[in-house]
Amino acid sequence: MSLYDKIKYAESLFRSRKFKKKIVIIESDDWGSERIPNLSVRKILEEKGIDVGTNPHSKYDTLERLEDLELLHNQLENFEKQFGKKVKITANFILGNPDFEKIKQHNYQQYFFEEFTKTYERRDGHTLVWSKIQELIRNGYFVPQFHGREHINFCFWLKELREGNKFFSDAFELGCYGIDIPRAGLHRKNLMAAFEYSDIYQKKIIEESISEGLEIFENNFKRKSETVVAPRHVWDSDLEYLMRNKGVTAIQTTMFQLSPGIDRYQRTFRYTGMLNPKTGMRYLVRNAFFEPSYSEKFDWINQTLRKVQIAFLFNIPAIIGMHRINFVGGLIPSVRDQNLEKFNKLLQKIVESYPDVEFLSSDELSKMIN
Ligand SMILES: [Zn+2]
Repeated sequence: MSLYDKIKYAESLFRSRKFKKKIVIIESDDWGSERIPNLSVRKILEEKGIDVGTNPHSKYDTLERLEDLELLHNQLENFEKQFGKKVKITANFILGNPDFEKIKQHNYQQYFFEEFTKTYERRDGHTLVWSKIQELIRNGYFVPQFHGREHINFCFWLKELREGNKFFSDAFELGCYGIDIPRAGLHRKNLMAAFEYSDIYQKKIIEESISEGLEIFENNFKRKSETVVAPRHVWDSDLEYLMRNKGVTAIQTTMFQLSPGIDRYQRTFRYTGMLNPKTGMRYLVRNAFFEPSYSEKFDWINQTLRKVQIAFLFNIPAIIGMHRINFVGGLIPSVRDQNLEKFNKLLQKIVESYPDVEFLSSDELSKMIN
């Protein structure tokens, strides 16, 4: 953290909305989105010269499988029996994955997608993953919220494919889009930042994607999404205004909103409960991170606990970011198992340190603030 960021972190502790209750929110992004489908695809990507060893999302991240959800469900159930606390995970969903065949048929001119439930079914030949997700929601362990219709910025991606970018074309043939490619130049457009645009035409396409995504969310989950987390935390106030009009009351974010600038992202400071008077939107800001998949050496349990302790010292909610990557073992099951154990330890330490702690979801927090 730079000195400036440290000052802003202190400012966020003072200015964030205070509560008498000790509240923990767990926000988990990327559910529903495919990353690396399986190990053999990862091996071929590597042979084609694509870096799959540096970014943990290329090493471990893959669409959730039934076994992942069963293990998580059992663990949360056992935890509830043992400690009398229901742990809620705000699961932020991507509602669709690219329809590779159709995109190719249309010569990469147009984007097509399949809904996430179809991706599970196409892979598994059954619908048990979707049933399990609905069960987790019914039992109150999962609270779904909106992360995007797709994670890929398809305007940028299709352009790369049309121009014949070898890495993206090779990955495309394997049913992959979220890859890291070697590239020269300072400003690299982030292809995972789905809400980024560079002209009015792209802006319209992204507005349509957000509107349609929110509808698909409602059709599948039988509820509106009250909060949104923008892919890679990149969005601007025009899109925020649109989301507010669609019933979204708060944006989940990190301490800095990123908006596209001329040659780099502009950062705008946010704190929990802050209102944007122009759009009517509020912000819920993550102030702790538990991402054991990102590094095995880091002491995630105690470092995350420390951030929770600091939040509670200032009477503000502890909002812990925790991506889906930590809960999936489709590529390397042992890493998922270690992560689950660490997660359980963290929860145990929180509950033992604060017996009156309450686990809430992001939309519940937004309601309390509004
Ligand atoms: Zn994401």
